[in-house]
Amino acid sequence: MAGEATRLQDEPYYLPSGREVEVFEQCHARHLAVLLKGPTGCGKTRFVEHMAWRLGRPLVTISCHDDLTASDLVGRFLIRHDGTAWQDGPLTRAVREGAICYLDEVVEARQDTVVVLHPLTDYRRVLPIDKTGELVEAAPGFQLVVSYNPGYQRMLKDLKPSTRQRFVALDFDFPPEDVEARIVERESGADRASAHALVSLGQRLRGLRDRGLAEVPSTRLLINAGRLIASGIEVRQACYAAVVSPLSDDPSLLSAMRDLVDASF
Ligand code: ADP
Repeated sequence: MAGEATRLQDEPYYLPSGREVEVFEQCHARHLAVLLKGPTGCGKTRFVEHMAWRLGRPLVTISCHDDLTASDLVGRFLIRHDGTAWQDGPLTRAVREGAICYLDEVVEARQDTVVVLHPLTDYRRVLPIDKTGELVEAAPGFQLVVSYNPGYQRMLKDLKPSTRQRFVALDFDFPPEDVEARIVERESGADRASAHALVSLGQRLRGLRDRGLAEVPSTRLLINAGRLIASGIEVRQACYAAVVSPLSDDPSLLSAMRDLVDASF
């Protein structure tokens, strides 16, 4: 359930591209909040799941959106037949339990919501609950992690400098070709040759960014195509359905992408 603390029993598969595992471990040990920057579908969520497992912490994931209020994070009074009762929100539960709290796409949240995170990101490590007057001290092991996609809606929304300077930022991007091929092969179940071919198609399609393709194909899309191929769908059909069509509605971009698929397979 969203916002519930999960303890991951099995290791979530994560193939690193650099030294992100080591840097994150140090941030965790030193109580530093972490900002994961990078395009959609490049492995940020999987990385946090892997790190929560590696560090043996429960994980609370919150997907941010523009209706998310501070009460949705912190908690609220619920009216019951015998009066009112306070109910902790997911952030408060994470703070009390010493969980890793992952706020996905944090720029989507309103600024007055994001501000409640501030006292958790400095030496105080506290969460003030205005409505009850309680000052919750973060349990050992609590860590705040947020993600955002700098390319997406960049002009409309950005993180305020007063917020972003509270985090250590780790830059994510699509993995190098050989790493991405191993990920696609493993996650999709497609054969090695198809996984490599999908990744080189992905690289070519990413080159269309300069021609106006706003969202380029992510590792996730390539995995989806690999899954279709692994289940017997013809390669080009799999690529049209899982990679090309989700990316654009523009007829000229669609036809340029289909041409690249046809040239690749
Ligand atoms: P994001 O949170 O950046 O939008 P995800 O973490 O959900 O992206 O990644 C999408 C999918 O791609 C994952 O479910 C996983 O299958 C795969 N993936 C991406 N990068 C990696 C990686 N480095 N190691 C393992 N799997 C990865």
